[in-house]
Amino acid sequence: MSVEDQIVPGRSCGTCMMCCKLPDVPAMDKPQGKWCREAAPGRGCKIYDTRPGECRAFHCGWLQDATLGPEWKPETARFMIYVAGDGALTIMVDPAAPGAWKDPRYYPAIKTSAARLMERNMPTIVIIGSRRVVVLPDRDVEATIPPGYGARVVTMEGANGPAYDVVVEAL
Ligand code: SF4
Ligand code: SF4
Repeated sequence: MSVEDQIVPGRSCGTCMMCCKLPDVPAMDKPQGKWCREAAPGRGCKIYDTRPGECRAFHCGWLQDATLGPEWKPETARFMIYVAGDGALTIMVDPAAPGAWKDPRYYPAIKTSAARLMERNMPTIVIIGSRRVVVLPDRDVEATIPPGYGARVVTMEGANGPAYDVVVEAL
């Protein structure tokens, strides 16, 4: 199945350009959190027909997950969900709206999803500029995750039920 086949029918980027701002795009020498030099916000990519392969290949979680309603569209939510190369469910937040993911429209669902994904050894990590926050069922933990490292959530039996901790280790 091609990446295009995984897009929810009827769903498209439209005026959203959050992936031209939030992540780094090495092919464009674009750092994280800054608009790409070829982005015309609200109008599109100025080099759309010749944009790099990594731009063509990227489709955020909202495009691919029919359970995420219109309020999860990145230009509305001010964050973008995707599965990172290390397998983490990643929520990359617009640094201009750092608290967007804590909005009651999203936060309870993010917590529920994080608990479910933990059972599949898939951590949920929020990126806000240089900050990394690991979402656990009972709390959110600020973590230092250097390049080449990833976070793993461990579950222990505590006196009052399960307890969770974050381990940062080389990938
Ligand atoms: S963040 Fe998602 S919806 Fe927005 S432009 Fe990128 S791929 Fe399209
Ligand atoms: S080249 Fe175009 S599609 Fe790629 S990040 Fe820049 S503006 Fe976005």
